[in-house]
Amino acid sequence: MKKFITRVLILLVAVASVSSCKTVRKLASNNNVYSVQDDVQLGKEADAQIKADTKNYTFLKSSDPNYRQVNAYVDKVMRKILSANAVPYETEFNYNVQVLKNDVVNAFATAGGYLYFYYGLMKMLDNEAQLAGVVAHEMGHIAFRHATNEMTAQQITGGLVSLGLKIGGAGETAEQVAGLAYNLAFLKYGRDAEEEADRNGAAWMAKTDYNPYEMQGFFKKILDSDRSPEFLSTHPDPANRIKYIGEVLKKMGAKNSGKTYTAEYQAFKKQLY
Ligand SMILES: [Zn+2]
Repeated sequence: MKKFITRVLILLVAVASVSSCKTVRKLASNNNVYSVQDDVQLGKEADAQIKADTKNYTFLKSSDPNYRQVNAYVDKVMRKILSANAVPYETEFNYNVQVLKNDVVNAFATAGGYLYFYYGLMKMLDNEAQLAGVVAHEMGHIAFRHATNEMTAQQITGGLVSLGLKIGGAGETAEQVAGLAYNLAFLKYGRDAEEEADRNGAAWMAKTDYNPYEMQGFFKKILDSDRSPEFLSTHPDPANRIKYIGEVLKKMGAKNSGKTYTAEYQAFKKQLY
């Protein structure tokens, strides 16, 4: 982590004369100051913090009778997306999904491979292919390193102190890592990052046996539902996403067929209580 502090300083000096906010942002996303290893370390630290925050996050516990089956099911979906052999950092990152029992219609990803899925979202979906669409999207955030891109952008625009970096202090590395990781669960990605995750997620899905158009099915459900305010507050307009996902898949020549695993998913949903 010491190395990246040096990189932050170098980058700050490098962009000190850039005054346009837009230019700074563009520079930032092309020049992630964190290393791939930093993504892994920050994701791991954030995971520990999220687990410690028992007030907000209720993880499905290993003592829960459905623990093994539920986790294995979601993990299987993630592995199938990985099997497309197109997801960046497949070996460098620790791709893993964890299940939260909160009745929230959302999912999120931090960095270095850590994905989180809420019961509320999984209960709302109709089939496994729709779940795969959301899994692929969240994997897109990880694979394109949106968290550390965003953190790079925020540091450059003056958020260095609020991110917990105490430059020059001795023996504060663990504290610095903790301070930085704390931001991961609260980052809001820009529209470009969301679109990048959608487009690539759809393309990965098209390389599996799932019907990739079911990724649109998920957004249609969000549009029809009145119980997805959390999702809408952290994600762009679903109608727009339905449109460009369709364009990506058409351009790829992806067929609007393939498996949905509806019966399997309905059986899986019965375990989510
Ligand atoms: Zn997203």
